[in-house]
Amino acid sequence: MRLDDEQESSHFEVQDGRGGGGGFGGGLGMLLPLIGSRFGCGGIVVALIIMMVMGMNPLSLIGGGGGGQPVQTQRPATTELTDIQRTSLKVLGSTERRWDEIFRAEGQSYPPPTLVFYSQNGQSGCGAAQAAMGPFYCPADQRIYIDTDFFKEMETRFNAPGDFPIGYIIAHEVGHHIQTITGEADRIRRAPQRASEAEGNALQVKMELQADCYAGVWAARDTNLMEAGDLEEGMRAAEAIGDDTLQKAAGRRPVPESFTHGSSAQRMAWLRKGLSTGDPAQCDTFNGSL
Ligand SMILES: [Zn+2]
Repeated sequence: MRLDDEQESSHFEVQDGRGGGGGFGGGLGMLLPLIGSRFGCGGIVVALIIMMVMGMNPLSLIGGGGGGQPVQTQRPATTELTDIQRTSLKVLGSTERRWDEIFRAEGQSYPPPTLVFYSQNGQSGCGAAQAAMGPFYCPADQRIYIDTDFFKEMETRFNAPGDFPIGYIIAHEVGHHIQTITGEADRIRRAPQRASEAEGNALQVKMELQADCYAGVWAARDTNLMEAGDLEEGMRAAEAIGDDTLQKAAGRRPVPESFTHGSSAQRMAWLRKGLSTGDPAQCDTFNGSL
């Protein structure tokens, strides 16, 4: 991505929970509440955790834990941040400008989310945040939480290097913010057809694919930002985090009914749809077709 000219967002916080004594211990019992919020969703590593606890419906784990040690929240100067954090804030700044344009065209204003960098143990309005969770959006406090080691892990574990995946992930979480402030997430959450686990999963997949499409819309509208190879990097990332690919990587036969984020092909297709149209109205994963 060409981010040199992008202004970093000022909507961020840094949480330092390292001094808290590490009471989490990594046990599954502690992990479960972390993936509780229905559409707080997770990003990438969350999908792995879901597979670790396969057999449990993540949608049933509602209500987040909370608790944990107190964390300190700061807003340091951006010059004190790491390169990857500054890249993240440039992406966030870019999403603010693009979505503000889109909202203003509809006569509305865009309330941006806040990006929270935490280290190992964090606290969110949706309960505790832990390093193993990967990035997630919390609708209750309209914040995006990212563990600072996450991107490094993504490069090694998911073989999706490059800087465009950073943009994709942040823009995907911003997509969940869009769903929240437009009321779409609430409408889906109340949908009557959430009766069974498979149906609930199917709705969540549509939410995730829509967030992928919104990520594509952002990238399409920032024409200065995309460089040669970015599209391919984004597609590789989308492929690497499809539920079927993750399930295979975990040594399982892919079970579509258990998908919560969509297959690799679906994720790539909806990211591409956003990228090719730049139009959020084309991101109707609930009624629309590719
Ligand atoms: Zn998501």
